[in-house]
Amino acid sequence: MNKLRHLSMVLLMIAATVLTTFADRKPNVYILATGGTIAGTGASATSSGYTSGQVTIHSLLDAVPQIQDIANITGEQVVNIGSQNMTDDVWLTLARRVNDLLATDSVDGIVITHGTDTMEETAFFLNLTVKSNKPVVLTGAMRPSTAMSADGPLNLYNSVCTAADPSSKGRGVLIVMNGLILGAHGTQKMNTVSVQTFQDPNGGAFGYVYNSKPYYSLYTTKLHTTESVFDVSGLKELPKVGIVYAYSNVYPDVMDPYLHNGYKGIIHAGLGNGNIHKNIFPKLDEARKEGIVVVRSSRTPTGPTTEFDEVDDKAHEFVASWELNPQKARVLLMLALTKTNDWKKIQEYFRQY
Ligand code: ASP
Repeated sequence: MNKLRHLSMVLLMIAATVLTTFADRKPNVYILATGGTIAGTGASATSSGYTSGQVTIHSLLDAVPQIQDIANITGEQVVNIGSQNMTDDVWLTLARRVNDLLATDSVDGIVITHGTDTMEETAFFLNLTVKSNKPVVLTGAMRPSTAMSADGPLNLYNSVCTAADPSSKGRGVLIVMNGLILGAHGTQKMNTVSVQTFQDPNGGAFGYVYNSKPYYSLYTTKLHTTESVFDVSGLKELPKVGIVYAYSNVYPDVMDPYLHNGYKGIIHAGLGNGNIHKNIFPKLDEARKEGIVVVRSSRTPTGPTTEFDEVDDKAHEFVASWELNPQKARVLLMLALTKTNDWKKIQEYFRQY
């Protein structure tokens, strides 16, 4: 009888220890560093001249010891570049690394530190190619690490709080900057110098981070991550897609390099609701006849580029980008072209994603 009581006491103690361990278990957050102003250094705390991608992930982590209270952190340097030099190659590497990490039980969320110039493109690329509902958060800074009131440390802290929180699951790839949590589909860099630069002008922010916790009020109805059909795991390169910018009196020859240089797709950064100047309309038709997929987007910062408005898309076999700005339309078109060349199917993707 005594032996039995002793055994049940021991079992109770083991159960209590296991329960406390799980209740206290900090999430495991992996930080992938790619460079940008968050890792930039300048000559002084007050001057604006600086170089992106100078300090490593370890210095970034040292600057924010408080993140260790939120999660178990592992840091890895993927590249250390200004994001103005982002390449398809780095995107493919990042997508593979993120997918490999999230497939393991030992990673609960990922933060990617990134330059702000092309952050919206990388976020959207990953939004369509990551196959997991675990949180993936991109962050960066508008002021270099050496500046007075550098914004990087708080952005990094808020991003870890977001990636570590289960309420961030299943929302697609997120951007956390200046206290806001934004979705990858609609977010744009809106200001060249201000710390309040990332906004979703059509849809609004998903939520915000306050006192170390994310609070959400919106989610996207666009397809992403686990619902996305795009898989880049076996790809070494992406189809070549360029952007043509429209303006008054645009010269027809701006289109020439796109016609015989291996381009599979062209994004037209059009006028208003994706309108096309008469000087280059025939060249876009010519591109289409050569089998190049033409997507009409807009240089106007807000509002959709809609199907069948002033341009007869059916007659010309053009695709309308809906809410995607030219640089994001390029991301979706590259991925769409890995699946199909059919403009109608690609138009469907542009409605869904
Ligand atoms: N040129 C920098 C970059 O994108 C700007 C920044 O990070 O804010 O890498």
